[in-house]
Amino acid sequence: MVTIKSKKEIELMKEACRVAALAHKAIEDNIKPGMTTWELDQIAEKTMISLGAIPAEKNYPSGFKDVPNFPASTCISINDEVIHGIPSKKRYIKEGDIVSVDLVALKNGFNGDAARTIIVGKASSDAERLVKVTKQAFFEGIKFAKKGNRIGDISHAIGEYVKAQGYSVVKEFQGHGIGRQMHEDPGIPNFGKAGKGIRLEPGMTLAIEPMVIQGKPDILELEDGWTIITEDGSLSAHYENTILITEKEPEILTII
Ligand code: MG
Repeated sequence: MVTIKSKKEIELMKEACRVAALAHKAIEDNIKPGMTTWELDQIAEKTMISLGAIPAEKNYPSGFKDVPNFPASTCISINDEVIHGIPSKKRYIKEGDIVSVDLVALKNGFNGDAARTIIVGKASSDAERLVKVTKQAFFEGIKFAKKGNRIGDISHAIGEYVKAQGYSVVKEFQGHGIGRQMHEDPGIPNFGKAGKGIRLEPGMTLAIEPMVIQGKPDILELEDGWTIITEDGSLSAHYENTILITEKEPEILTII
């Protein structure tokens, strides 16, 4: 079901999104080579809890009997890992890595969802370009996130931009409505036909999240049941914000 948020609900959404933005800032301010992904996860977790929020990814159900709930407060996916990487005390961050961090803050019953790919120190120019294009794909998409347009207009803009840059979008995972639930309708693919899908209305809150691969679009799931990697071993980046559809331009709630 697509939910339209009231003014009061939007205020609560904004607070959850502010916490998500601050958790990202804490990570960006502290990330350095030699740290583990678990240490990074702890920074985000402590930030969210200190601001009165719950890290909503922790214990998120996998949906499969044989796969445990997500064990950490953030998904951290490095280089060829696309999304849903599990933070670990054994995984060290290195100079030149591209580190995608996806986190969700739940506060006062509402969720704020954002992802960033951080370049650690100096990376290859290829890696830097991928990260830049992935971020820009989000901004290309939200040019169409306006009242009266359709979901497909956003999807199409993202997909065409990424293709024109010589990269691939992930097809199996997508953006989503968000509110009291982390994942609400509608689904927002990173490719598709303009003019298709539901119409956008003021009060909709959407998590738009291009996941971009340098090489072929194919992905694999690791045996942990969570981590998604690129099949061809090429790099992948992720950029996501929670936005609000308004009477005019969309508001980006997870950038403060
Ligand atoms: Mg997310």
